[in-house]
Amino acid sequence: MTNKIIPFSPPRIDDKIINEVVDALESGWITTGPRTKLFESKLADYCGVDKVLAVNSWTTGAELVLYWFGIREGDEVIVPVYTYCATANIVRHRGAKVIMVDVSSDFGIDVSKIEPYITEKTKAIIPVDVGGLPVNYEEIRNIVNKPSVRSKFNPTTEVQKQLGRILILSDAAHSFGAKYKGKKIGSKADFTVFSFHAVKNLTTAEGGAICINMPAPFDNEEIYNRLNTLSLHGQNKDALAKYQIGNWEYDVIDAGFKCNMTDILAAIGLIELDRYDDETLSRRKEIFQKYTEALNKYDWAITPLFIDENRETSYHLYLLRIKDVTLEERNLIIQEIFGQNVSVNVHYKPLPLLSYYQGLGYNLDEYPMAKALWECEISLPVYYDLSDEDVDTVIASVVKAVEKIKSGDEKNI
Ligand SMILES: *Cc1c(COP(=O)(O)O)cnc(C)c1O
Repeated sequence: MTNKIIPFSPPRIDDKIINEVVDALESGWITTGPRTKLFESKLADYCGVDKVLAVNSWTTGAELVLYWFGIREGDEVIVPVYTYCATANIVRHRGAKVIMVDVSSDFGIDVSKIEPYITEKTKAIIPVDVGGLPVNYEEIRNIVNKPSVRSKFNPTTEVQKQLGRILILSDAAHSFGAKYKGKKIGSKADFTVFSFHAVKNLTTAEGGAICINMPAPFDNEEIYNRLNTLSLHGQNKDALAKYQIGNWEYDVIDAGFKCNMTDILAAIGLIELDRYDDETLSRRKEIFQKYTEALNKYDWAITPLFIDENRETSYHLYLLRIKDVTLEERNLIIQEIFGQNVSVNVHYKPLPLLSYYQGLGYNLDEYPMAKALWECEISLPVYYDLSDEDVDTVIASVVKAVEKIKSGDEKNI
């Protein structure tokens, strides 16, 4: 047993990243500028969409989209109950009501359960690609396009009128590089928002990006310009434009947000993106495969789905489930794993268990699948610098912990 601690998901910071950040610092342009714009166009190429706006987090990016769409008090927005709090918090920021829907055994929103939750007040749905596995976008699109669902839609702004149906905003915080029906995530929803937070597959320390993919007659370039302006206080000229000689005067067209990405962070993103498929994704996939191959030998292990005929994950979170354990036993297993210097995690504590949402009256008992998943889930470490030897250490620690807790179980029978 070594004393080395295996962390859960450290970022990959090497000389390439450091040098690019230093170059950005030395360039004299540190806020939104040429590196951010280059990062945006490379993201758009990667995802196969017209326009991408880089922002300072998933949270602000996704909220900006809700703001643009005119979501406000009195509206309802559908989210899965099994997600990070940000997915629901942005709905509360806009004053709207969070409508929670249970998930399927693959951790994504249970599409078959969405329709009964749709009312005249429903304005948007925010599916989440949990762990990196895309949800079934086509089925969600079919639901919002159903004549009976469209006829319920009650537009209160010009853009809502123009769309004429519920907006699909994808929470792709985990799924950068994942595929749905052969295409990269980004072009499957009206808007797709990524997170580049430090623990995500592709990081800029903090950051995010909005893929703009609205159907005709919307003009995605026009939406980009609008969101870009709204990401900077509604100022009609950004810092770069104002920097031009004599170009000092500007107007403010709305009480906008302040969530633009900086060139220092885009520098990290450019390096990360450049090596994303060949290094990041391929290493993460190898780690997933190693875990699955080893753990499938144990009948207490339910290994996560990461590929099927329509979807391939981005290999973000390895969501392992342990069969027939209580919540207490799951927690003891985690403690045992940590005792062997291996860091694991749980994704997620469902929203109704968080004090704020509990206080609003949400109850986990209404979401049986989310409850079952939460009680038996353990996420294993996955990151580029995790060596094969580390992977073996993780597997051994999980096996030892589960067998110890489970044998205690048997003695009690
Ligand atoms: C990380 C995460 C977010 C929030 O991303 P930020 O960039 O930190 O705002 C949103 N949704 C999910 C599912 C996440 O895991």
